[in-house]
Amino acid sequence: MGKLFVTGFGPGNPENMTYACRQALEAAEVIVGYSGYVDLVRPFYPSKTYIDTPMMGEVERCKEALAQAAAGLTVAVVCSGDSGIYGMASLIYELSETAGSSNSGSAVEIVVIPGITAAASGGALLGAPLSHDFVTISLSDLLTPWELIEKRLAAAAAGDFVLCIYNPGSIKRHDYLQKACDILLQQKSPDTVCGCVKNIGRPGEEAFVTSLAQLRNTAVDMFTTVFIGNSRTREIGGKMVTPRGYFHG
Ligand code: SAH
Repeated sequence: MGKLFVTGFGPGNPENMTYACRQALEAAEVIVGYSGYVDLVRPFYPSKTYIDTPMMGEVERCKEALAQAAAGLTVAVVCSGDSGIYGMASLIYELSETAGSSNSGSAVEIVVIPGITAAASGGALLGAPLSHDFVTISLSDLLTPWELIEKRLAAAAAGDFVLCIYNPGSIKRHDYLQKACDILLQQKSPDTVCGCVKNIGRPGEEAFVTSLAQLRNTAVDMFTTVFIGNSRTREIGGKMVTPRGYFHG
């Protein structure tokens, strides 16, 4: 029976790749992923077979990974951060349903390996922004209707959750963070402490603390993760800190 690891390798630096991820990549005969990600692991495992066609979409790549595993190979699908958080793990399971029904006898063992997600690695660079209840919201409307994203932003603001925003913008979606901030500003103070982290664990790494009013005018790209505090989040010594509640009950 073939084996398919779905593994997140963390933000990009080897120190933040888990030991289990390393073991999966060592065991794999074939490593599959988006070329930008595969390029980050290739230097460590140069002799593996790689499937990283940049033109191929996620669905085709994952189908190919399942097909290779069904043929008896040990395969690793790689994602940045955690493979279950805006990653490929769910797609692999969804595709395995159809693969199983049309191709019985070629069972594949799927093993999901956890990784350090951008909320955790970015949060550590900023200080301690996620020490109380938080939500993650992706601003990408490629797979989710924008109306639903707006609804979730407003609900998070109503609940005074800390927000961790993935996919805050890209060249095509250059004003999405601005639009998101406008929704949040309907319920949150413009002075709300916010943070921005770029290129975590990669060249050009940058982290800074700002306000919600300023965040609205901050340029972000697809390698940025944004943190928006709750009403108690403070700046302490240049760091973004959401109190756990020890001193105010
Ligand atoms: N599975 C990934 C998320 C993929 S969605 C994870 O768990 O981290 C892609 C988004 O993740 C990016 O737009 C960005 O918001 C965030 N991200 C992933 N890696 C990052 C990094 N090295 N630096 C900053 N943000 C990152």
